Amino acid sequence: MKLPIYLDNHSTTPIDERVLEAMLPYLKGNFGNPSSKGHSFGWIAEEAVKLAREIIAGSFNAKPDEIIFTGGATESNNLAIKGIAEAYGNKKKHLITCKTEHPSVLEVFEYLQTKGFVITYLDVDQHGLISPDELSSSITDKTLLVSIMAANNEIGTIQPLNKIAHICKDKGVFFHTDAAQATGKIELDVKKTEADLISFNAHKNYGPKGTGALFIRKKHPQIKLIAQMHGGGQEHNLRSGTLNVPYIAGLAKAMEISKDEFETDNTNIKAMRDKLEQTIFSQLDGIKLNGHPEHRLPNNLNISINGVRNDLLQLELNDIALSSTAACSSAGAKRSHVLEAIGLSEELIKCTIRIGVGRFNSMEETDYAAGRIIFAVNKIRQRNTHETTY
Ligand SMILES: *Cc1c(COP(=O)(O)O)cnc(C)c1O
Repeated sequence: MKLPIYLDNHSTTPIDERVLEAMLPYLKGNFGNPSSKGHSFGWIAEEAVKLAREIIAGSFNAKPDEIIFTGGATESNNLAIKGIAEAYGNKKKHLITCKTEHPSVLEVFEYLQTKGFVITYLDVDQHGLISPDELSSSITDKTLLVSIMAANNEIGTIQPLNKIAHICKDKGVFFHTDAAQATGKIELDVKKTEADLISFNAHKNYGPKGTGALFIRKKHPQIKLIAQMHGGGQEHNLRSGTLNVPYIAGLAKAMEISKDEFETDNTNIKAMRDKLEQTIFSQLDGIKLNGHPEHRLPNNLNISINGVRNDLLQLELNDIALSSTAACSSAGAKRSHVLEAIGLSEELIKCTIRIGVGRFNSMEETDYAAGRIIFAVNKIRQRNTHETTY
């Protein structure tokens, strides 16, 4: 077993060797520009992009021309939300999202508010779920778009996407979902879940950083977006810029692997996560599980530990890479809006850690991590008692 152990797979994942192998030819000899129509360098690159688009579309049960390549989920979220707002916003100016979204969604809505849009931020319950009834009653004849994430990056809660999509379809409102944490972990079939726009990336799914895509439904309804990047007219004029062929090949390989190995991958990851969770809960008291007990990503473990500040815990756990969900110890740092939204006190937020198990972890590693966490928590709690006694 090699130290340190990486257990922060919600922030990013290590690249799969097979993904790297799929990328290398396009970083070496096959360096052509897919827009070069006059020679074989261009044709080879164009063929690689075409194949990648088919694989990625296939993994969502979508059509190849419904996939637009971008520079990651942040860009996809921006293109989806601003693109819709600018295309249809002269008639409808009401947008709905929820309080626990990623900043790359929330900040876009903040921006659109300065452009005259009215935003509804739905509450979530103690487990991080929105209420479909509340969503339904928030929609008016001025509502243009609903944007609700598939799964949360801090607490792993999986939203009821089918219900949300159904409500939106029923009321004639566009539905966008940020699926950056969900790809490879929950099934997303656009024939079953009628989302109109889906953002995702490669680096949360064992692919390279700085690449991603946006699914844009082509039929029932056909969606038009206003481009956010202007230039050479690539990607049906929706995202100009020379296509990043090696990274697109990597994104496709990552999606292909996670589709082919969906069952084994998630079963293994869930087994490690569940054992880690059970060990911690059986050995320590004063632990609170954050996120939904069942409707939660199989790799996510987010816990609050009574009396144990996460910054002190992280100092003790220098051989384990986990996350304190948000840097909250330093002055001026923002507290987690997600933990606030599920009702955690300021004190408990400071005592919260997030563990993200991944494909390349082993049971040996998660067993070791459990032991280290339990030891460190006991040590800090003993020190606390000492401090109050003397
Ligand atoms: C990581 C993440 C993003 C941002 O993705 P990038 O590809 O890094 O821009 C957006 N939404 C969620 C839920 C994420 O976890």
